[in-house]
Amino acid sequence: EAKKSGRNQYRFFSAEMAEAVKRDFVIQGELRSALGSGQFELFFQPQFDLEAHRLSGCEALVRWRLPDGSLRFPDKFIGVAERSGLIIPLGNELLLSACMTVKRWLDEYGGAVRVGVNVSALQFEQPDFIDTVLNALVQSGIPPQFLQIELTESTVMHDAETSLARFEALKEMGVQVAIDDFGTGYSSLAYLKRFVCQHLKIDRSFVRDITHDAGDRHIVKAMIDLAHNFGLTTVAEGVETAEQQDMLLALGCNETQGYYYSKPIPESEFVQRFLLSGLTATKIRPTVVAV
Ligand code: C2E
Ligand code: MG
Ligand code: MG
Ligand code: MG
Repeated sequence: EAKKSGRNQYRFFSAEMAEAVKRDFVIQGELRSALGSGQFELFFQPQFDLEAHRLSGCEALVRWRLPDGSLRFPDKFIGVAERSGLIIPLGNELLLSACMTVKRWLDEYGGAVRVGVNVSALQFEQPDFIDTVLNALVQSGIPPQFLQIELTESTVMHDAETSLARFEALKEMGVQVAIDDFGTGYSSLAYLKRFVCQHLKIDRSFVRDITHDAGDRHIVKAMIDLAHNFGLTTVAEGVETAEQQDMLLALGCNETQGYYYSKPIPESEFVQRFLLSGLTATKIRPTVVAV
């Protein structure tokens, strides 16, 4: 196949690859100089308890505010940060920043909600990862249950035995753990049984067609039942419509997150629209549907 496509094709691909390497290199340089400069902001996306009809937590998602004021999204730089190792200082900065935000909410508004912080594989696998988390808790002085670490299935399964030990340590500290993007990687069910975590986040690819694809509906139902049998709560990602929400409630899903309620928004906006409004969401009025 490659031979047939000949010289020009090869040159085309290599030029494209060179372009990608160059782009990576430029972003890597920009990342390096932006670290510690306050250019990385956390946006917050609310999560709701479907039964209780109220705010249950939020997810912190990084945005890079460039000097010209524009925003750069994670898909443009998290990969580069991971490949260059810069995700370690960046991730540590964001972890502390999330904890300091919770501290501010507690001090200024007398209340807070659980904040999910995404942690990359490289970060999670650092020998001092647990110390880093402990340090963020001590430095901010927040109760540990407000912090939730989000790890993807592939991060967790990469070195499952080490993950087990880290999960135990986090549990001992009182920090919560969520398995993110569940269903997109591969998990051994035997490990799922042994992982001591609290939440399972159902990937949005399964939620998208849930109202009209019986297959996806069965998969989501199976994930929810599996999670509940292991004592985990379920969070559906990517909920964009009332119909998806209602179906998820009917399937027994505990919590939801998605554009239907809000996109990830700046912290001040999150406080005004969600945290302060009595922690009660008026838009969450699921209709009971038959499955
Ligand atoms: P994720 O952790 O699975 O985060 C959910 C992503 O889905 C977010 O994209 C969010 O904006 C998007 N999303 C939420 N609701 C909806 C919806 O209803 N429809 C659709 N189409 N999308 C929705 P975002 O913020 O661009 O982040 C993408 C990924 O980048 C995250 O996936 C996470 O893996 C990574 N990421 C973001 N922030 C951080 C961070 O601080 N550290 C690390 N290591 N990774 C991060
Ligand atoms: Mg996440
Ligand atoms: Mg996710
Ligand atoms: Mg994702």
